Amino acid sequence: MTYQNKECMFPTMHRKHEVVAPIFNELLGLEVTAVEVDTDQFGTFSGEVARVLPVKDTLRKKIESGFGTKDGQIAVASEGSISPHPYIPFVTANMESLMFVDKEKGFELTVSHLSTDIVAEKMEVSDYSELNHFLLKADFPNHGLMVIPKDPIQLEVCKGIRDESELAEAIKVLVGKSRVNRVVVQNDFRAHMSPTRMKNIGDCARKLAIRIAQKCPKCSQPGWGAVSSIYDARCEYCESKLKSVVSGYQNGCVTCDYVEVEELDDVSNSSKWCDFCNP
Ligand SMILES: [Zn+2]
Ligand SMILES: [Zn+2]
Repeated sequence: MTYQNKECMFPTMHRKHEVVAPIFNELLGLEVTAVEVDTDQFGTFSGEVARVLPVKDTLRKKIESGFGTKDGQIAVASEGSISPHPYIPFVTANMESLMFVDKEKGFELTVSHLSTDIVAEKMEVSDYSELNHFLLKADFPNHGLMVIPKDPIQLEVCKGIRDESELAEAIKVLVGKSRVNRVVVQNDFRAHMSPTRMKNIGDCARKLAIRIAQKCPKCSQPGWGAVSSIYDARCEYCESKLKSVVSGYQNGCVTCDYVEVEELDDVSNSSKWCDFCNP
């Protein structure tokens, strides 16, 4: 394996290395170690620190801060978001991204993974008793919760709640910090509080490791794989291009400019995908 027994730093505060380390070790031979970095400075889910940079820039900052803690050539960083699904209405999605940097070989590679398997519940209340079956939907206490005052007098957030009496107390206190005497109770998306998110980070790590393990057929550097999708399939009736059918991939290298087109077998030419025959 390319990275047998090499060390990979992972700047993380929320134990994400626990899911990434075994996958990187199995597929790449890399030893992943967590490094202490205040990653919250780059943005938080609870909104005390706004996320201002595009994902890749945030990932680069996290990687840099990891390299700043000790000597090393290899690092990985993670960034996630929970938002409405880009294509499916009324569905919440979790987008996870992982960036891998190898300073020795001189490349950077980012892989993303979109999943709808995420526990993401939210409810506005004035009193604990109103929560009812919300706690079941939010998979509490397996998934942690946080409480935020609505229209706050000053922004104060109670995070990482996994205990009923602690939750009741947080609601009571933070209702008093709201101008309208209400709070928002929602899932805490920090990785160590969200088993579904942790699983998605694992799936993303697997995707990244598989990609790193593939070598470029020309320069033999790691990180060979699909850089874009090709949509060349044509409708069986009118022969116009089917814009939503992937017919192949452009594979590329992260180091040299070599590319190869990979055409997929069994690509659908059904008119049900055609904008003209089936608008
Ligand atoms: Zn057609
Ligand atoms: Zn190459």
